[in-house]
Amino acid sequence: MKMVKTKIGLKTRDIFYKDSKKIDMKVLEIISNDKNFGFRKENLDKIKQELKGKDLSMHTQTNMVFTYREKTLQEMEMSILKTEIFACKYLGCKELIVHLKQDKLTTQEIKFFSEVLKISKKNKIEIIYEVNENFNGKNFLYNLEKFPQLKVNMDLCHLAMAVKNKTLNMDLDEFLRKIKKRIIYIHASGYNGKEGHLGLNKSEFDWKNVLNKLDLNKIKKIIIELHKLDDFRETKKQIEKYLKSLNERSKQEK
Ligand SMILES: [Zn+2]
Repeated sequence: MKMVKTKIGLKTRDIFYKDSKKIDMKVLEIISNDKNFGFRKENLDKIKQELKGKDLSMHTQTNMVFTYREKTLQEMEMSILKTEIFACKYLGCKELIVHLKQDKLTTQEIKFFSEVLKISKKNKIEIIYEVNENFNGKNFLYNLEKFPQLKVNMDLCHLAMAVKNKTLNMDLDEFLRKIKKRIIYIHASGYNGKEGHLGLNKSEFDWKNVLNKLDLNKIKKIIIELHKLDDFRETKKQIEKYLKSLNERSKQEK
């Protein structure tokens, strides 16, 4: 195995703005409805200045796209995504994280989303498909298959929920095997069987077992998604330790 160069980052919600003086992270995922964000030049310029020099990605403010069947609402979601692509471009965010509905997409929805993907490609923004809480593994694979270029954000907490609550609807190893090549991004937080988005140290779910089965050389970023500063610090330590042990092992193999 090659040396793993995966970067560790933070999703800005809650802790970053509150504790920004205590947090020194180069890699950040911002949310397109962060306070004072908007889609106005003045606000974008302010954020751009504040986050100068950071390696940025963006999480969409749409929910699970296509959950509403009304065409008007779907058109609205597509417009938001398109606006976010241009905001990404303006701010220098490389990736845009998006959720799709829990069910299989219809032909019309596939067409809609393909158009958005085309715009993102043209503007060199990578749209990444994130697994939902309690997602259905078969539906996720079905939707993914419709977009051969689309890559995946594996949220460890959402995966833990899908396994625990049995919505995954297939064997975990089989699911990971089928999806492994597409995963280039991770959201990291823990699940204790009841509550999600806890520190990885508080996770009941064996997240290392999941990472062991993925190709870390493909994964560009592991983004910590937490609400408390202490959890963030502990989780960061755990991931650093994990990546270090992987690289030590690969050095020994040489
Ligand atoms: Zn997530």
